[in-house]
Amino acid sequence: MVDQEKVKEAVRLLLEGIGEDPEREGLKDTPDRIARMYTELMAGYDDAPANHLSRTFTAENNEMVLEKDIVFYSMCEHHMMPFFGKAHIAYIPNGKVVGLSKLARCVETYARRLQIQEKMTAEIADAMMEELKPQGVMIVVEAEHLCMTARGVKKPGSKTTTVVTRGVFKEDERLQDLFFKLLNHKPEAEEV
Ligand code: ZN
Repeated sequence: MVDQEKVKEAVRLLLEGIGEDPEREGLKDTPDRIARMYTELMAGYDDAPANHLSRTFTAENNEMVLEKDIVFYSMCEHHMMPFFGKAHIAYIPNGKVVGLSKLARCVETYARRLQIQEKMTAEIADAMMEELKPQGVMIVVEAEHLCMTARGVKKPGSKTTTVVTRGVFKEDERLQDLFFKLLNHKPEAEEV
């Protein structure tokens, strides 16, 4: 749970630290606004993937399931700046499937925390392996990090891509290629 009083205090200090006057009109309510915003942005700490992935249905067949373009917003733990983009999740069921909206909820659970993109991608995959026990999972996350693009280290709009494979996806390049084919593009990715 976010301690709103502590966040307010910290924001007041931060404003002073950057040479601002926390009492001036435009900033008066900023600590309070930010404290309330953080309650929403950090809600993932009070959530667990099991809350969303435990309700499963019997699979009619065990063909690949792909949910593309799951939009997410997260916050990098190194700079506390937003990173945001899309997650693409594929899995091959082992008799059990989950409602597609639940995959998006699972992404939210991990995105609404201080994060590292690589870690978030792996956490989602591991949670799915744990809860759904599928034959395999493959996840691609493409995101823009404001800590890089807003500071001019990288060009605006440039993306970081992470890929995680678990189970049958790990060794099977044919399955990985099928995933990219269904995605319609193959991003330049770092293996995690
Ligand atoms: Zn960062």
